Amino acid sequence: MKIMVSACLAGENCKYNGGNNRNEKIIELISQNEAVLVCPEVLGGLPTPRIPAEIVDGTVINKDGISVDKEYRRGAEQTLRIAEREKPDIIILQSRSPSCGVNQRYDGTFTGTRIDAPGITAELLIKNGFQVIDIEDLQ
Ligand code: SF4
Repeated sequence: MKIMVSACLAGENCKYNGGNNRNEKIIELISQNEAVLVCPEVLGGLPTPRIPAEIVDGTVINKDGISVDKEYRRGAEQTLRIAEREKPDIIILQSRSPSCGVNQRYDGTFTGTRIDAPGITAELLIKNGFQVIDIEDLQ
């Protein structure tokens, strides 16, 4: 089986704060399968660490009020291109990220409030027919 995974789940320090979301189940899956690691925000040209961002009225805005929509959408397109090339059987993404969140994301108020809607990359991958699951549904 070939899997595509949010790179931060595999322990890469690509998270907005410079850390990661290492997940032992993902580490195990990577050791047993062919794995492709992606970080849409880094692929979109954003630095690590970076200012956290949320989707506000359909546009990705960082906490300083600056639009990073172009970078987030570029990262989603790049991730889609990799998925089309690699043809993973399943894509497993990190929860609640404005890029990778599958089930939920934050609501754009920077108050930690969640809504039932996906991030930019997850949404694009799902629209293009890929099987995408949220890491919280794997455990
Ligand atoms: S964009 Fe996705 S892979 Fe990159 S740090 Fe955020 S959740 Fe992880």
